[in-house]
Amino acid sequence: MITRLSRLFLRTLRDDPADAEVPSHKLLVRAGYVRRIAPGVYSWLPLGLRVLRRVEDVVRAEMNAIGAQEISLPALLPREPYEATKRWTEYGDALFRLRDRKGADYLLGPTHEELFALTVKGEYNSYKDLPVTLYQIQTKYRDEERPRAGILRGREFIMKDSYSFDLDEAGLKASYAAHREAYQRIFERLGVKYAIVAATSGAMGGSASEEFLAESEVGEDTYVRSESGYAANVEAVVTPAPEPLPIEGLPEAVEHDTPDTPTIAALVEWANGAGIGAVTAADTLKNVMVKLRHPDGKTEIVGIGIPGDREVDGKRLGAALEPAEFELLDDADFAANPFLVKGYIGPRGLQRNGIRYLVDPRVGTGTAWITGADAPGKHVVGLVAGRDFTPDGTIEAAEVRDGDPAPDGRGTLVTARGIEIGHIFQLGYKYTDAFEVDVLGENGKPVRLVMGSYGVGVSRMVAVIAEQQHDDKGLRWPAEVAPYDVHVVIANKDGAARDGAEEVVAGLDAAGLEVLFDDRTASPGVKFKDAELLGMPLVLVIGRGWAQGVVELRDRFSGEAEEIPAAEAVAAVVARVRG
Ligand code: ATP
Ligand code: MG
Repeated sequence: MITRLSRLFLRTLRDDPADAEVPSHKLLVRAGYVRRIAPGVYSWLPLGLRVLRRVEDVVRAEMNAIGAQEISLPALLPREPYEATKRWTEYGDALFRLRDRKGADYLLGPTHEELFALTVKGEYNSYKDLPVTLYQIQTKYRDEERPRAGILRGREFIMKDSYSFDLDEAGLKASYAAHREAYQRIFERLGVKYAIVAATSGAMGGSASEEFLAESEVGEDTYVRSESGYAANVEAVVTPAPEPLPIEGLPEAVEHDTPDTPTIAALVEWANGAGIGAVTAADTLKNVMVKLRHPDGKTEIVGIGIPGDREVDGKRLGAALEPAEFELLDDADFAANPFLVKGYIGPRGLQRNGIRYLVDPRVGTGTAWITGADAPGKHVVGLVAGRDFTPDGTIEAAEVRDGDPAPDGRGTLVTARGIEIGHIFQLGYKYTDAFEVDVLGENGKPVRLVMGSYGVGVSRMVAVIAEQQHDDKGLRWPAEVAPYDVHVVIANKDGAARDGAEEVVAGLDAAGLEVLFDDRTASPGVKFKDAELLGMPLVLVIGRGWAQGVVELRDRFSGEAEEIPAAEAVAAVVARVRG
């Protein structure tokens, strides 16, 4: 197909949009791929829509290849199914809720677990029908608190969501593995650099959930990785626990008067002046008090012990305490529990008073610490874990730092930023329990189906590719998703060259290529700038050389240009595109 720039519904902008901070957003707007309608709501113009459709095609092909079947559910959904799973309220402010003229509540689907579970329940009733995986490529709505970077975080966006239904856990694992591999193929084909990260520490059984993060400085997700290829969400990082050390022969713990040392810094200063050897913050044990609210409504005070050189990471602590929620103790809590001496809390005082005490894995048996002695202005030196106090368990609450040892024992961790492009999740029975999605088993007894859910950010992917592939001149699409295979520019007013260009373009079209043809009368400089901004992988320039029988083929990726005989132009371009 030939698309003439003189007719294309396109207007490129010279300036970056005022609200754009990240390169992909600036370029996609400037190059006329998308246009903003409202915060987080965008229109797709012809070039943008072509990229979007090509991303969809790749996703669709790979989903079909694992036997998933495409359906399409409405975005406008009744309240009842989401009420049944409590998500009508639990989804919070991100759910778009609305009411019809009769007063019935509706929502705009943020994700469709409920509807897929109900769809399968409605159609299937025998084990012989299973397993089944269904998917859709569909518009989702989330009233994001901070819509961002154009289509990167929209309030209306396109997601591929699929859902697997299996008779047992082994089946679920197989469906999950099939999706994992399909996702790897999708992101590979789209030319995205990404990492697969464990989304949870695996407390619920292995890799119950993994995220695919595209490497990007502008990403909102922080993760860690090591040279060995290990990658994980910060919440999922497991601290390697040291081997237990021998306790025998360790000196007795000694209490000291340490006036005015409520902070780790002050304590370290005191210790180094007190002649007990060189001490750093890592030798001290800091005890942070939190108040938990359990799902049953009960509250509990818990002590968290971590090495004094580290801060508590609220996200890690929160993930470790789930499903309980936590907050730090306030002054009233301290007043109500006088045994908690602020700045001087120690493990022994907590245990004497029946407070659950969880420690960082580094606080292993046989490690000795400088920590609070549970009295104002007093600390204890040489308090040994496993001898002077026995923690109730370990907890991943301390911050992860660059240079920490990797959990797999190979190398050290570095932090990186990424954009979530996919998420695979062994859901289990939450939704099939809610709707009693059962089939008749082989032995005549009902079998409850087990479900997995899997998402790919299809519209986000357009921004992610633009983000990873642009340069300072403009977009730079990989051939797999480029709106056109080749961008042909007439850079000469000469009638023969124009006629020649028409001929070349017709030849490319006849060979089955998608051709963007800059047939405008604008100056060559303007056309070259636009070609760089729009970002087709190949640019064929028909200009001054035409009279001598040469044209120029430019590679937008490498920036290289080569002169080729005009007579071979069609064959050369076709070879490059098909190669
Ligand atoms: P995020 O952490 O970025 O908000 P999420 O955890 O909410 O993502 P899921 O609910 O797992 O995402 O949705 C599946 C996929 O849909 C994500 O991996 C992401 O690629 C995409 N996605 C989610 N929210 C948006 C959005 N607001 N705009 C565009 N794409 C999105
Ligand atoms: Mg989200």
